[in-house]
Amino acid sequence: MLIVVAFVFGAIVGSFLNVCIVRIPKGDSIVHPASHCPSCKKPIRFYDNVPLLSYLLLRGRCHSCGERISPRYFFVELLMGCLSVALYYQFGLSLAFLVSFIFVAALIVISFIDLDVRIVPDVISLPGIVAGLLFSIVGRYLINDSFSVIPSPLSALIGVLIGGGFLLALAWAYEAFTGIEGMGGGDIKLLAMIGAFLGWTSIPFTIFFASLTGSVIGLGFMIAKGVGRRFALPFAPFLCLGALFYLFFGDRLVEFYFPLN
Ligand SMILES: [Zn+2]
Repeated sequence: MLIVVAFVFGAIVGSFLNVCIVRIPKGDSIVHPASHCPSCKKPIRFYDNVPLLSYLLLRGRCHSCGERISPRYFFVELLMGCLSVALYYQFGLSLAFLVSFIFVAALIVISFIDLDVRIVPDVISLPGIVAGLLFSIVGRYLINDSFSVIPSPLSALIGVLIGGGFLLALAWAYEAFTGIEGMGGGDIKLLAMIGAFLGWTSIPFTIFFASLTGSVIGLGFMIAKGVGRRFALPFAPFLCLGALFYLFFGDRLVEFYFPLN
């Protein structure tokens, strides 16, 4: 029963994330005006705005003008619903669930905005850094969470410094020597946010995972489409995917790589 609740809750939040994905890059408010069709601008009636179900019942088309609605809406709702269930399985009803739910929601919004417009929005990553640090303090001192996922405040702070500072220096050096912009500033702020939420041990894994999967998929794209070397693949979704893997399997990875930790 609670699994169904977790799924429905995730799908409803996913519906809100869709609004964020469309409006944040435009600088629009995420609460006003109410949801409307991007094509005919007609407001979407509440019974046409039920997560997942409405998309299926309307067969992915606007009720008013019949224009196709991006399947992304359906996908994001489904994804957040499934991840909510997975987080519930992993953490039960706990502070760790709440914190990781917020973190995963932020990762989804960042990934899809980066896929869409190649920007990692500061309005998510910068408050995310602060939120991750605050949660680490709350988790340790106020609620005494078993920190199976929430890192210690020190680990979170080192995570921000490694994710942010060290990589910023590396990116500057790379650009100074080669004249080519390597990792973007947005990616670095995202890494700092990941470090704040998951602790410093997540940073090497996330970078390794993202570089590996990014290279493989980037290479696949180049071969399939014959695009040149300067083709820029959005990197944030790979970083987010790495962070997601770490969130679920990180404790086992840390034991493997840092047995004395
Ligand atoms: Zn319409």
